[in-house]
Amino acid sequence: MDITTRFAPSPTGFLHIGGARTALFNFLFAQRFAGKYLLRIEDTDRERSTKAATEAILNGLEWLGLSGQEETVFQHKNIKRHQDIAQILLDNGSAYHCYCTPEELQQMRYKALKEGRKNLYDGSWRDRSPSDSPSDISPVIRLKTELTGKTSIHDLVQGPVTVDNEIIDDFILLRADGSPTYMHSVVVDDHDMQVTHVIRGDDHLNNAFRQIQLYKAMGWEIPVFAHIPLIHGQDGTKLSKRHGAIGVESYRELGYLPDALCNYLLRLGWSHGDDEIITREDALKWFDLDKVGQSASRFDINKLDNVNGIYIRNLDDDYLVTLVLKELEKRPNLIFNSKTVERIRTGIKGLKQRVKTITELADISTFYMAKTPLQLDQKAGDTLTDDALKIISGVREPLKNIEHWSEVTVETAIKVYAEQCNLKLGKVALPLRAALTGKTTSPSIFEVVSVLGWDEVNLRIESVCRK
Ligand code: GLU
Repeated sequence: MDITTRFAPSPTGFLHIGGARTALFNFLFAQRFAGKYLLRIEDTDRERSTKAATEAILNGLEWLGLSGQEETVFQHKNIKRHQDIAQILLDNGSAYHCYCTPEELQQMRYKALKEGRKNLYDGSWRDRSPSDSPSDISPVIRLKTELTGKTSIHDLVQGPVTVDNEIIDDFILLRADGSPTYMHSVVVDDHDMQVTHVIRGDDHLNNAFRQIQLYKAMGWEIPVFAHIPLIHGQDGTKLSKRHGAIGVESYRELGYLPDALCNYLLRLGWSHGDDEIITREDALKWFDLDKVGQSASRFDINKLDNVNGIYIRNLDDDYLVTLVLKELEKRPNLIFNSKTVERIRTGIKGLKQRVKTITELADISTFYMAKTPLQLDQKAGDTLTDDALKIISGVREPLKNIEHWSEVTVETAIKVYAEQCNLKLGKVALPLRAALTGKTTSPSIFEVVSVLGWDEVNLRIESVCRK
């Protein structure tokens, strides 16, 4: 079978990480089996759909490398087709006009709830003669769903699930204004796009049973379903704003790498042994739905940080430099010239060692581009006592005399100096770090000195001693 999957977000908000994971699973499943992964923007609700949300979703997917393989389908363009299908169903007796007023529907709901019934609509207009129809009410079109029997699906994630048809409402296909409902358009479009596998959040599991009724009424082939558990926050409740950033664009701004985010989202609810770092290439070899767990997974920012840090360190250094420079360009009071850029290039190996995000990498890189005198943070300022200033002033002499400037010769010069002054290395290194970086943490001090070069080191030491 040629596999076709789709990701079908509604553009009523940003692309959240749960949606991104659904897109990723659809993408991987299709690609793994040499199928097609499509994208459909479900924008038939013209009031709630916005251009900004559509753009945020498309940009977010592009950033994650999860754009559809064919032109994006905008659902609202298919409305005429949805209406035509509703008409076919009316014509063949599988659907009917319903003229219930909002008040009548409300009453039905009360009654159903009181009687503990799940189907809220009582089928009033199902078999009524069209001659009864009131002339002042525009009707909706409802599907005649099966009243008895059961509907079963073999969900690739949830396993076999069966419901009694009696709990399925005669749901609405077209509203009174002729606009299609989600339940209707999703089936028509999935059929027209020849979707073979519907992979989506398990909040849609109940909808599958309704949608199957529509497939059956049209005599269309029913796709395979896979309903994946939602992502929860650390506290086990459904992920929401109060758990922090949930939009993909926030992760982009915070300095996460798209491949790292995808790796983390993949591992959230899917496993391949104990592997934590799974490249896209490997995922494309290994991914299948049978290893997707049935329970909700918890989003853990620390784990994401950890994965992101690993991806940063594995990234090609030249590319990493372009990313960090882009981030540094947003910051004020930095000097951008060939010398300072070169410092970042040479220093990148040391800088990237402990960071978790690109933003953090930029934070710790600023001292290489900063103007002298530096702004010292409180702790660094405290390190620079009179004694400490004397010590770092003195280290200039051996540094100045280095013939072949390199990290190794710098290290030797500083160590020899400390020995000669009978000082522990820290007594030299700590204030030197404070003077050169404005902070008390940085990459190795020998590396920092060597990357900055003699002139800048001298300037920065002088500037703190002058104060
Ligand atoms: N548009 C729906 C949503 O964003 C998804 C529908 C589906 O995947 O069937 O929740």
